[in-house]
Amino acid sequence: MTDLKSMTIEELTGFMREIGEKPFRAKQIFKWIHKMHTESFDEMTDISLSLRERLKETALLTCIRPVREQKSRDGTAKYLFELPDGNRIESVKMDYRHGHSVCISSQVGCAMGCEFCASTIGGLVRNLTAAEMLDQVYVIEKNNNIKVSNVVVMGSGEPLQNLKNLLVFLKNINVEEGDNISLRNITVSTCGIVPAMYELAEYRLPVTLAVSLHAPSDSIRRQIMPVAKVYPINELMAACRDYFEITGRRISFEYSLMEGVNDSEEQAEELAMLLKDMNCHVNLINVNPIEEKDFKKTHKRAIMAFKNILEKNQINATIRRELGQDIDGACGQLRRRYPQ
Ligand code: SF4
Repeated sequence: MTDLKSMTIEELTGFMREIGEKPFRAKQIFKWIHKMHTESFDEMTDISLSLRERLKETALLTCIRPVREQKSRDGTAKYLFELPDGNRIESVKMDYRHGHSVCISSQVGCAMGCEFCASTIGGLVRNLTAAEMLDQVYVIEKNNNIKVSNVVVMGSGEPLQNLKNLLVFLKNINVEEGDNISLRNITVSTCGIVPAMYELAEYRLPVTLAVSLHAPSDSIRRQIMPVAKVYPINELMAACRDYFEITGRRISFEYSLMEGVNDSEEQAEELAMLLKDMNCHVNLINVNPIEEKDFKKTHKRAIMAFKNILEKNQINATIRRELGQDIDGACGQLRRRYPQ
């Protein structure tokens, strides 16, 4: 059956034509799905009964179901969602002064094998459809009666390994007939799949690219991120420069500090050298330890020293506020705890 929620307006218009309906119906249906977040065809009251019946026979609206919610004292909420095929994924809602932000997953599990990450422990199960990515935002908006202003595609999965569906997600979340979230308020993360970074840049979308760097050199990066064995740091930096040149969006480098691994002052100097002359921002994150691995958090003093070295070298750096520390904060932990 055709999943209408994974279609762009143009595709939906084509679908209407195929089933002998007037093309303008596509816009009406698109609004029901992406603005009203309708979960059944019966709710589409300005569509004729006969068309609604026809849609029930030929099409579906993918809906994901929250099966668990953990709320933190700071307002952060973590959701475990069940997909139509029974697989489970996680999403997080964070409240900031500037609005509500949602972090979504792009895959069930992940193939990338980063050593410090719980999401990859069972490997990749499958890509999420565009509908499954969109519905993480829609359900959180509906359940909390809020309008989300920022989205980060930084939960489980490597988004650039699911680029086709990611592009539909970005288009549908952005259009006026949908949630109308500005692409400038959307961040897509990658662990550094260089060819896919060049490909994304070609679409010239003003989304922020967050590159998981986590080390200033190939030798350390290879120990904690297998992707670094395929794409060395010089190739990664070239792709980052290309992304900035084409989109005008500065790169956000994610750097999880792990005690004794990548948090020394020498490594901060090395990072500053690597990023000098780049239009970028560094997000320092104290690693969220997971049960399965013994990476330890860095001491607060060492984080400050690391940040100061970057700033002394004119590199923008912030320390990410640790939200939701009293719940299963690290990505992938909740899914592992409640597999079904
Ligand atoms: S950090 Fe991201 S890319 Fe790396 S294994 Fe985890 S989900 Fe995958």
